Amino acid sequence: MIMPAPVKKVSVVIPVYNEQESLPELLRRTSVACQQLQCAYEIVLVDDGSSDHSAAMLTEAAVAAESHMIAILLNRNYGQHAALMAGFSYASGDLIVTLDADLQNPPEEIPRLVAKAEEGYDVVGSVRLQRQDSGFRRYASRMINHLIQRTTGKGMGDYGCMLRAYRRPVIDAMLHCHERSTFIPLLAHSFARHSTEILVPHAGRQFGQSKYSVMRLINLMYDLVTCLTTTPLRMLSVVGSIIALSGFALALLLVLLRLVFGAHWAADGVFMLFAVLFTFIGAQFVGMGLLGEYIGRIYNDVRARPRYFIQRVVSSETFLPAREDQK
Ligand code: UDP
Ligand code: MG
Repeated sequence: MIMPAPVKKVSVVIPVYNEQESLPELLRRTSVACQQLQCAYEIVLVDDGSSDHSAAMLTEAAVAAESHMIAILLNRNYGQHAALMAGFSYASGDLIVTLDADLQNPPEEIPRLVAKAEEGYDVVGSVRLQRQDSGFRRYASRMINHLIQRTTGKGMGDYGCMLRAYRRPVIDAMLHCHERSTFIPLLAHSFARHSTEILVPHAGRQFGQSKYSVMRLINLMYDLVTCLTTTPLRMLSVVGSIIALSGFALALLLVLLRLVFGAHWAADGVFMLFAVLFTFIGAQFVGMGLLGEYIGRIYNDVRARPRYFIQRVVSSETFLPAREDQK
């Protein structure tokens, strides 16, 4: 059952990497959108090691009176998701909204996201209407979203869109995850109880260009897959077993044919050699898969995600806040 829950404070977290042209409009539009909220708000701007004037502009905006802004400056470029995490660790709201700095996601949609979260959802995603990106990006995203839906079994549509809202417990849970490479919408999804999506318009990039080169996109895809699952490692065992079994079956077939059609059919054992080879190659894959299983488990332990995350403990005696050190 979904219980409506009012939001007391909204934190808008925005990662910024060389976005000096977009910043003035971004800050203005985001502030206007936040002023329409019925609750307190703050805007947390994370400068991800920009080499242009972004950091200076953010600092200037944050020190201005009544700006409701916090600027967090990272010492170098760590990537969008790491920057978001840094922002989360400083956000104090009970609902956190993430947004891109390039104005591809309209800040005007923030009140709608908040209203949706107040219906009782702990993650509100968004699906981009008429996405304004290159055909290659759209196609790749579609494939990946499809893969995620198959793996998680949940029908959320658009993981690439960063205009999203998360409740405080989901953020706290994510801050307890120590893995280096992560993909926030997916990580949040794994801690969400009730999630939903709204449709939002999408704009083309007005200034500069995408910060994701093909190499960075590939890197992002690997982060996403490894964040989600260790199944690819298991595939090694599965593929290996299939190859080994077919090799074995081929050997049996060859022996049978040799018995039925005589020695000349077997081409002096060349085919048999293949059959034996397949069996061994398959066995090697199984061995690698086994190693993979161990590596997968080591990986899971090293990133030390919390096994569970207690949101609140209520007892008839006293109210106990959630303990910080739960693991
Ligand atoms: N970004 C960042 N660090 C990076 C790359 C990007 O903080 O290393 C920010 C960037 O400033 C923007 C958001 O992440 O606010 C999304 O980046 P971009 O628009 O380039 O991605 P795309 O829309 O092409 O997916
Ligand atoms: Mg963009």
